[in-house]
Amino acid sequence: MTTFLRLGVTEDDQALADAVATFAQAELAPRAQALDEQELSATCHVPQLAELGVMGLNLPEHLGGPGVTPTAMLLALVEISKACAATSSMVGAHYLGTDAVLIGGNAAQQQAWLPRAASGEWLAGFALTEPRGGSHPADLRTRAVREGGHYRLDGVKHFISNAAEAKFLVVFARTDPDAGARGVSAFVVDTKTPGISFSSHEKLMGIRGAHAFEVSFDGVMVPEDCRLGEEGTGFKTAMKVLDNSRLDVAATSLGIAEAALAAAVQWANDRQIGGEALASKQGIQWMLADMKLRLEAAWGLTLQATALRTAGQVFTRQSAMAKLYASEMVGFVTDAALQIHGGYGFTREMPLERYARDARILRIYEGSSEIQRTIIARAVLG
Ligand SMILES: Cc1cc2nc3c(=O)[nH]c(=O)nc-3n(C[C@H](O)[C@H](O)[C@H](O)COP(=O)(O)OP(=O)(O)OC[C@H]3O[C@@H](n4cnc5c(N)ncnc54)[C@H](O)[C@@H]3O)c2cc1C
Repeated sequence: MTTFLRLGVTEDDQALADAVATFAQAELAPRAQALDEQELSATCHVPQLAELGVMGLNLPEHLGGPGVTPTAMLLALVEISKACAATSSMVGAHYLGTDAVLIGGNAAQQQAWLPRAASGEWLAGFALTEPRGGSHPADLRTRAVREGGHYRLDGVKHFISNAAEAKFLVVFARTDPDAGARGVSAFVVDTKTPGISFSSHEKLMGIRGAHAFEVSFDGVMVPEDCRLGEEGTGFKTAMKVLDNSRLDVAATSLGIAEAALAAAVQWANDRQIGGEALASKQGIQWMLADMKLRLEAAWGLTLQATALRTAGQVFTRQSAMAKLYASEMVGFVTDAALQIHGGYGFTREMPLERYARDARILRIYEGSSEIQRTIIARAVLG
């Protein structure tokens, strides 16, 4: 358990993190391997997570959330990710959906959908990516055409986390075919609406308990009052949601890396090579030093972006930097931790290979590393 407060972390933030850590180590960590090997859904943990307030950490109290700071939310996700990255990915996808209603919706829509999401009764998802490419979502082709008091949705979304397990999805669809990003609108859609169908979940390399699906919309009639904001504002909403969610990805990166580094330190101390602890070898010490250095740098960037978010400032570049750096850091740290374990690290008896597989997606979803660099470069170039 953390014994000191990081910069900008209050005692209340840390108290929540400690409670989540206790739960995560007792309940999530022992099941993480089974979720991975049997591809069991991490949604089995939703009731207990909801009891701790985790399913509504991004929501204010009047909408059923515990009303905690973004920093507390960050620390809680780190603790979940140390124990089971699939669970934090499932929770992160839920936040994507609920954040979209919070950011894009009016008071009536927020009241209709969010309290039951915070209570764990309803799971949410976020349907932006399409088969023709996730890196340029302004080019999306799912159509929403007004018909009386409804919109008719037709199209296909790909890699949508939680989708078949969710009560509702926020779906981004084109209301104006000629207006580019300004022609995209957001809709909150009940997943039981006729015309929606789901593939079986994708066979993933890692986070195998966080299920992702293809979702087809075939003449799905959505009431007009399920449109979030005005027509044409959906893309803006999606981008604001992603600013937030990139910090969730950074949190997952930090959590996996913390777990991998702790395992590597313990192994280096315990493992005897030629009568000496592995930790006595300078080559291993330098590896551990580099792991720690990058981990702390990622913490710094993530806490800085979180502080800007808390202050209500624009934090798009800082969020992209935290996501990019932390997700690349965890690739390095998990690989080095596996290396320090030698052949044992390569076996499925130990969690090192799972950490490395779970970490790989963090450089791809919610905007790949290349897209984060593009966002940062745009800011640098003004
Ligand atoms: C497990 C999982 C869960 C997911 N969950 C969700 C979800 O809940 N909701 C959702 O909407 N989406 C989700 N996604 C989709 C994810 O966000 C996309 O996979 C991601 O944005 C990349 O899109 P793509 O896979 O279509 O790759 P592409 O867009 O086809 O990109 C392919 C490669 O080209 C690179 N590239 C693309 N454009 C450029 C450029 N301009 N310059 C340089 N390189 C470029 C990319 O970085 C990438 O390396 C999920 C994906 C996975 C795998």
